[in-house]
Amino acid sequence: MRPPRRSAARRTTVLSREAVLLTVPAVLAALLGAAAPAGSAGTAKPGAPGAGDAYFPLSGNGGYDVNHYDLTLRYDVASRHLDGKAVLTARATQDLSRFDLDLKGLSVTGVTVDGSAARFTRDGQELVVTPRHAPRKGRDFRVTVTYRGTPKPVTDPDGSPDGWIPTDDGAFVANQPQGAMTWFPSNSHPTDKATYDFTVTVPKGYTAVANGVLRGQSTAHGLTTFRWHAADPMAAYLATATVGTFQTESFTTRDGVKVYNAVDAREAKKAAPVLKKLPSVLEWESKLFGPYPFRAAGSIVDHAPSVGYALETQTRPVYSSAPDMDTLVHESAHQWFGDSVSLTSWKDIWLNEGFASYAEWLYNEQHGGDSAQKTFDALYARPAKDGLWAYPPGDPGSGKNIFGDPVYERGAMALHELRRAVGDKTFLRILRAWADAHRAGHGTTAQFTRLAQRESGKDVGPLLHTWLYAKGKPARA
Ligand SMILES: [Zn+2]
Repeated sequence: MRPPRRSAARRTTVLSREAVLLTVPAVLAALLGAAAPAGSAGTAKPGAPGAGDAYFPLSGNGGYDVNHYDLTLRYDVASRHLDGKAVLTARATQDLSRFDLDLKGLSVTGVTVDGSAARFTRDGQELVVTPRHAPRKGRDFRVTVTYRGTPKPVTDPDGSPDGWIPTDDGAFVANQPQGAMTWFPSNSHPTDKATYDFTVTVPKGYTAVANGVLRGQSTAHGLTTFRWHAADPMAAYLATATVGTFQTESFTTRDGVKVYNAVDAREAKKAAPVLKKLPSVLEWESKLFGPYPFRAAGSIVDHAPSVGYALETQTRPVYSSAPDMDTLVHESAHQWFGDSVSLTSWKDIWLNEGFASYAEWLYNEQHGGDSAQKTFDALYARPAKDGLWAYPPGDPGSGKNIFGDPVYERGAMALHELRRAVGDKTFLRILRAWADAHRAGHGTTAQFTRLAQRESGKDVGPLLHTWLYAKGKPARA
């Protein structure tokens, strides 16, 4: 994500630790899904209502892992009514008497598990499903949920809207961190990645843009249906199905990546010179970070002035207005850092935002702008009471702080100090090794630190610890 540049006056953030709701043993227990042994149906237990995230305890669920989402959506732009059918293919990680999906608002009209009608109840953001036959540990099962209603975005702890956000000509759809539950039932935590198919029907004249490759579109009876296929594992918060009146273009890059751009006419003139650079930015980032992790790319440039941010929706970032170069570089870098290499907990968000921010510094340095050192020095010159030092990037304290300056800017500063300590060549080798070792998977801060030590042969642990975890403004070595 890239929030708009804020003034220094608004950067103050209060140090907060109250949201560390789960203890480490509780987190482990939730991740292990209570560790029910495979056995008779009598051992089946309910899956946990959350994935064990300290900042968002109800995000995600325990007891199963989704492999694929097949989403069929129909959105009426004028009435803002959504009809949905979600077919989830999942594998049970315990004998499962009951399980939750994350879904907020909307009316559920039916749930089946492996074709049999299942009982269900609603409890806040949890859709609680009791199947007729308990899925057994290690077995695949299929859940179908039909639902409808008017999606309403959620308000994040930092006050920004997230999820299915209506616009004057459709909907801007960006889910970080919680918004997936506003438009489809899911296991909404980055620990569970899955492939996706989207079949989205909208009134003729509108375009529905999701992740991955456009498999086809057809119009009949005043409605157009778009079929998208996302073949690489993706966290639910990176899914989109943005609807609008868009100018579209598609082409294939020299590296064989299929690009699809959708641009609101009101943003087209300003967006054009920036979007033109997308292939060269992806090529430049591929040289630095290793091969582009996906088969598809592109941009969705919407006109959504009330939103005011951009998100690295997988393969195809979504922008609420025409992006500048920094923002394009930032969201593109997230395809490696955040999308391909995913978080295991929101607390580690600097692994996404510090890296994407540092990509901006590197891009400017190599394209006639300020050196990364100059950018670092300007930030470091800020006084100790500045909001930049309000909390450490590796431990933001609560979900309210995950998109704050310490995560983005001080997170990037941590990488810059690592670069100074190991040298340019080794530093880039570390970034590539990180993207490669955790490609299409997950990573933690502890794993990154170990990898940096191993690749550099230097004890960079203390330096990273200072920049990521020490309270207040770090002293320079
Ligand atoms: Zn970002």
